[in-house]
Amino acid sequence: MQVLLASAAALVNIATDGAARGRPYRAPRGGELGAALAEALGLPAGQVLAEGEIARLGRTAGALREVFEALAGGRTDDAAEALNALLDANGARPQLDKFETEGGTGEWRVHFHGRDDSFAVGWSAGCATGVAMVLGGGLAGRLGVCAATGCDRVYADASRNAARQFCSTACQNRTKAAAFRARQAR
Ligand SMILES: [Zn+2]
Repeated sequence: MQVLLASAAALVNIATDGAARGRPYRAPRGGELGAALAEALGLPAGQVLAEGEIARLGRTAGALREVFEALAGGRTDDAAEALNALLDANGARPQLDKFETEGGTGEWRVHFHGRDDSFAVGWSAGCATGVAMVLGGGLAGRLGVCAATGCDRVYADASRNAARQFCSTACQNRTKAAAFRARQAR
């Protein structure tokens, strides 16, 4: 679950334009975007994402950004609708996959697959499912958009007290320093 949420946030943060840590952010395009997404989502080394897969992941990132922004704005209905569309578009379905374990008996785990087993559809379905389970589980407050000025990167808060407001410690520190300077200037 946590892997899916972290992957959803990484997908949005890599593939959508906006601002990051006080600077404008322009997502890489084409093959460069493919390489960045392959690394973030763990495509086996030596494999390259096809153009269509990169495009699909880009669309998923855009849809997921809508979801994070809707949740941050308190528009839960909009977030749910966008997620349902994404689940539907990728044919998200749970499946038991068997993993090898030491000792050899193996262990079954629930994984979320998509309509087909391509990398882009699988990750799109998986990320959408992870976010949907958070929203549907009453934990939507754990998904957010960075509160720092000049940043719109998103995060999935896995901390125990769920008090996260920033995408990174860089943004947290920058915001604290600005507040300190503002107090000094008074
Ligand atoms: Zn930030």
